[in-house]
Amino acid sequence: MTQIPTVKLNDGHDIPQLGFGVFKVDPAETERIVTDALEAGYRHIDTAAIYGNEQGVGAALAKSGIPRDELFVTTKLWNSDQGTQSALDAIDLSLEKLGLDRVDLYLIHWPRPDLDLYVETWAAMEQIRDAGKATSIGVSNFHVPHLEKLAAASSVVPAINQIELHPTFQQRELRAYGAEHGIAIEAWGPLGQGKYDLFGMTPIADAAAAHGVTPAQVVIRWHLQSGIIVFPKSNSAERIGENIDVFGFELTGDQMAAIDALDAGNRVGADPDTATF
Ligand code: NAD
Repeated sequence: MTQIPTVKLNDGHDIPQLGFGVFKVDPAETERIVTDALEAGYRHIDTAAIYGNEQGVGAALAKSGIPRDELFVTTKLWNSDQGTQSALDAIDLSLEKLGLDRVDLYLIHWPRPDLDLYVETWAAMEQIRDAGKATSIGVSNFHVPHLEKLAAASSVVPAINQIELHPTFQQRELRAYGAEHGIAIEAWGPLGQGKYDLFGMTPIADAAAAHGVTPAQVVIRWHLQSGIIVFPKSNSAERIGENIDVFGFELTGDQMAAIDALDAGNRVGADPDTATF
């Protein structure tokens, strides 16, 4: 079984640095696909209430027979559930669907600054953690001003900020803020969501050829060697296996630097400052 490295969070808990994400995994297929991931060795699953597939994730976890303390499960509070009571209700519903009495990590999915509820919601997240329903709490898609507003209102620093991050969108400012304040960074869309020709870019293709691996494996390795927590998504058992088979080679300093140089401000998802979904 592949030994996955862990990252120590600011609350003392450990998170497996490589996991499996289930955004856009069809709810009807989720149990089978997450079962494939667990069989391939993944123990960290990243879902969200809005994905509509928490039930399938829960079914796969239950069927696997893997002890709870060997699993790391993340879910996220959807935007329409921001606010105190709705957040407290939302975690209960997520836990029911997952068939769990706690998640390892609960995230505010988007700041939605237009709603102006994320500071109040953060206080509810603290209550959820204190009640033992989430071992760690964090945020997703938060920019520095959003994080600073939380810091002004609460002494509890998010354990995680989960943000869009891939070689042409490297989020240096948020990573520097995270490093300074003890907020670990998770990459969503780590493979650029397949929305541009990441795998054909010269430093990635060259490194893949040099190590005899695939471009996807090079990109995952770049995230891991950059200290980022990553959970690529795939529906295919073959790619699920490929994406975890990344511990038999190491990118050189020059290969890392060449990929670092691809940063181009190329956001492929929504801008958290203006998103209104
Ligand atoms: P991703 O970058 O992981 O891209 C997934 C796509 O890459 C797949 O659909 C597949 O087409 C392709 N792919 C995967 N493995 C491959 C391989 N080995 N070779 C070639 N192509 C391959 O994008 P994602 O799914 O959006 O991001 C990963 C996870 O991040 C999600 O599943 C979800 O858990 C999380 N996420 C969070 C947010 C958020 O707002 N917090 C937003 C999007 C995604």
